[in-house]
Parts: sequence; structure tokens; C-alpha cells
Amino acid sequence: MISRIDLRGDALPEGGALRDLLPRAEFDVEAALEKVRPICEDVRHRGTAALIDYARRFDGVEIERVRVPVEALHSALDELDPAVRAALEESIRRARIVHREQRRTDTTTKVVPGGTVTERWVPVERVGLYVPGGRSVYPSSVVMNVVPAQEAGVESLAVTSPPQADFGGLPHPTILATCALLGVDEVYAAGGAQAIAMFAYGTDECRPANLVTGPGNIYVAAAKRLLKGRIGIDSEAGPTEIAILADDTADPVHVAADLISQAEHDPMAAAVLVTDSVELAEKTEKELEPQIAATKHVEDRIVPALSGRQSAIVLVDGLDEGLKVVDAYGAEHLEIQTADATAVAARVRNAGAVFVGPYAPVSLGDYCAGSNHVLPTGGCACHSSGLSVQSFLRGIHVVDYSRDALAEVAHHVVTLAEAEDLPAHGAALKARFDWKVPQSK
Ligand code: NAD
Repeated sequence: MISRIDLRGDALPEGGALRDLLPRAEFDVEAALEKVRPICEDVRHRGTAALIDYARRFDGVEIERVRVPVEALHSALDELDPAVRAALEESIRRARIVHREQRRTDTTTKVVPGGTVTERWVPVERVGLYVPGGRSVYPSSVVMNVVPAQEAGVESLAVTSPPQADFGGLPHPTILATCALLGVDEVYAAGGAQAIAMFAYGTDECRPANLVTGPGNIYVAAAKRLLKGRIGIDSEAGPTEIAILADDTADPVHVAADLISQAEHDPMAAAVLVTDSVELAEKTEKELEPQIAATKHVEDRIVPALSGRQSAIVLVDGLDEGLKVVDAYGAEHLEIQTADATAVAARVRNAGAVFVGPYAPVSLGDYCAGSNHVLPTGGCACHSSGLSVQSFLRGIHVVDYSRDALAEVAHHVVTLAEAEDLPAHGAALKARFDWKVPQSK
């Protein structure tokens, strides 16, 4: 079912060459750009009418308006299964504990007497939060988007999620209930690229947002790439991935269960085991079959995900080589199931989130660890972070210099301005000192 890549023996190549040996999903966002460009243009020009047409075409549902009535949010919460409500409340509580701590305080640095630079952290004014709802519905993604935005102090929050044919063209009721639980009352029934365009351009129902965040499929990722600049984006969080770095101390039952748990998201999901233990590899392969037979979503998601070229068991000579491999891969989720997992985790450079030891499975992080589950995929963890309070803040430098403090450094500024052939820059200083450049004392 799952292929093997044997990297034992020779020294591992560096950087890009090593990455080329590793499995990865074909997720050609560039190709999808051409598909989403006309959709986004259409929403820009026709607004709500275009959104209604795309709901019919892509979601198979007739809707009359895109904004969800507030009463629908409250009734969804009233009808929410009490056990699901309790679990969501716990998920929200833990996410708040972690995200509240992330809020940075403003810092003022005295550069010289009379000269300070303050970094002020200011929340983005309005954000649009995308909650996927194609194959699965993700009320947990409502929590993961909304909690950091609220903790950052964002004033205006709107959530969008695809309309569901089974629920009269509204987003899934659990998503609506979670919005109500979090105090969000601006919710739209729009999915895919058209939803991102709605936030970027605005419509008669929805004011444009400054930033859009949240995971989604290839059309969502392509629209984010296309409209970036017009609207701020978080990372392009695409089909989910798990990498597990494990040695012979790992339990193959846990390893197999965790590989399957990510594979059930999407046929394009990636599950990668990196190990120096042939015995663990063999036991994991054996363990996959009965566990897959006992679960859901087998033929449509798990089998294609595990047997696709994006998933594999990678054999390496030792832990050092394993770390090199997982760093080159830059997984969205990385589990460390080795002896002294804490020390090994501390050596990891590239991952969206790291899960340490046998009792921190990715499923915990998906819902109730307190960490965020909107994480960079496709190797983007090598340069980007997951969603956090920081994603919703901008640092503004406030420069405050007195006359004396400016006088002290004026000749350096003028020299650099002349070196760049920008004499008017120098003149802006000279004008403040009767057109003479003060010399430093
Ligand atoms: P989705 O909401 O992202 O996409 C559904 C929408 O796609 C539909 O509403 C429709 O408008 C659009 N669409 C469908 N077919 C189309 C077509 N042929 N042309 C144009 N648009 C089309 O839901 P999904 O498809 O289930 O994908 C969710 C993704 O999000 C999965 O890949 C999942 O792994 C990922 N995810 C990632 C994270 C993360 O943090 N990285 C978290 C949760 C989910």
C-alpha cells in the first residue's frame, strides 16, 4: 500500500537535492491559477450574483443570499449536541490559554538620548476567515482562525464556509454553532476561490477585508496567491501532511494510526514515516491493513493518500540522517516517536508543529492541544509559521527624535543620501538646521 524509499548507505545529498528524493503531493497551484482567475474577476464585477452562480455550479445548491442570518447561528447553537458543545468549549478554552500568551507587548528602544524607536503592535482592522467545507467540515478550523484573531484584538471578523446542499444552502450547522459560541455573527455561505475574492474585493453584502486566513483546497490556495497584495494572506495551507520520525522504540500501532489519521483528510494528504528501523517499517506496514479495514473514508481518501506518490516510508541510517530528512521535508505536522523525544524535537529546524513522544498525536493538535492547526504545508514550513496571534498584528515603528538627537547623526544621513544620489533626502535634514549640516560633537 505505502511505498518505501531507501536512503541508507550513501551520504545524504544536501538541500534541494535531498528534497527531490522525498515524496510530495503534486499540488500545482500555478496551474490552478488560470482556473481561479476568471472566477475572481467575476466576483469582482458581479459580486453576490456571481457567488450565487458558483454555489450552484460547485456546491450544487441554490441560495438567494450569501450572508447567513444571525438567527440561523443561534438556532444552530441551540441544536448543537451537548457533547460536541462541551468538546468545542474545551478546545476554545485551551486555544485561548496558548494564544493569549502570544500577544507581544510594545517595545520602546532608546537609541540615543532624545531618540527612540517604538514598535507598536496593531491588530489588522478587518479579517476574513476561511473555514473549509468541501469533503469534510471543520468546526475546529473556526476555533483555530477566530481565537487568535480575537486575542490579537481584531475588531471586525467575518467567517465564510461553503454552502451545503444538505443544510438548505447554509454552511454546516456545527460551523454556524461554533461561530455563535465564539461570538462571531458575520458569516457567509461561500467556498473556494470565490470566497477569497469576496473578501478581497467586497460585495454588496460583504465589506472587503484587509487579511484572509485559513486552510483550503487548491482553488483556495490559488486564489490566495492570485489576490495577495490586494488582500493580505497567511500561508497557503493546502492538503495536510504528517511526517513521523521514529526509531525502534516507537509503537507501530501508534505510528500506523497516526499515518491513517492524516490520510483520512484528503486523497492528496501525505503520510511519511522516516525511520532507521526496518523492523518498525515492516510492523507499521502490517499494522496499516487491519486499522484501515476498521475505519471510514477508505477508498475515497485513505487508500489513495497512502498509496499516492506523496506518501512513503523513508529508511535512513540513523537519527541524524532522519533529522536531516525531516528538515528537508519541512512537514506541516512532525511527530517525534524516538527515545528521548524531547531532545530530538529540540534539534528540529523545519516543521509547522512538532508533536513530542507517544502521547502527543497530531489529532490532539487538530482539536485540543491549545496549539493552532492552521499550519504551512508543501514545504512552506521551511520559511513560514502557522497561524498565531502574530498573524493578525502589524508592527508599526514609531520614530521620535529631538533636535539634538537628529543633529548628532545628520552628517551621516547626508553622506548616505549623497552616496545614493538622493540629494533631496540630505536637503530634508539641512532645511532643519539653516541649511548647514551639523557636525557631530
Ligand atoms: P474547501 O472548502 O477548501 O473547498 C471546497 C470548495 O472548493 C467548494 O465550495 C467549491 O467552491 C470549490 N471547488 C470545488 N471544486 C471546484 C472546481 N472544480 N473548480 C473550482 N472550485 C471548486 O474544502 P475541501 O475541498 O474539503 O478542502 C479542504 C482542504 O483543507 C483539505 O485539503 C484539507 O486537508 C485542508 N486542511 C488543511 C488544514 C491546514 O491547516 N493545513 C486544516 C484543515 C483542512
